[in-house]
Amino acid sequence: MATRRIVEIGDEKLRKHAKTVEKFDWRLKMLLNDMADTMYKANGVGLAAPQVGILRRAVVVDVGDGLFKLVNPTIVRSEGEQCGPEGCLSVPGRSGMVSRPNLVVVHAQNEEGKEIEITGEEFFARALCHELDHLDGVLYVDKMEREIFDDDEEKGDEE
Ligand code: ZN
Repeated sequence: MATRRIVEIGDEKLRKHAKTVEKFDWRLKMLLNDMADTMYKANGVGLAAPQVGILRRAVVVDVGDGLFKLVNPTIVRSEGEQCGPEGCLSVPGRSGMVSRPNLVVVHAQNEEGKEIEITGEEFFARALCHELDHLDGVLYVDKMEREIFDDDEEKGDEE
């Protein structure tokens, strides 16, 4: 198990456009494993490579239905809308209300480079949108409708 340091808001790496992954080698597998370890240790439900300082298009997500490792992911279809609480491991101690699609279909590659497609609904859709935004330098705080404060009851999970 190897964890990496999570980059926090204010670091310019979180604001850059991540590059397409071209090499599906042991380094990529190690990165994805480290990202999963880092996410679980921090009790997160998702983590994007820029959050550990690596500007590559790779994310891990686990909202309770198993671990997904997605390389070069893109949203190919989205439906509906949901508004709910959201947090981010790179924005510690804060959360906010964010509108997201209720369903997304994501096209990606797995760690071997094989093409995959996954469908996420509700909270899984929210987590996918949140992580994919990280690859384009976007944070949930850019999109939130309002901040949630400690005395509110609707704190979000951290991604
Ligand atoms: Zn995040």
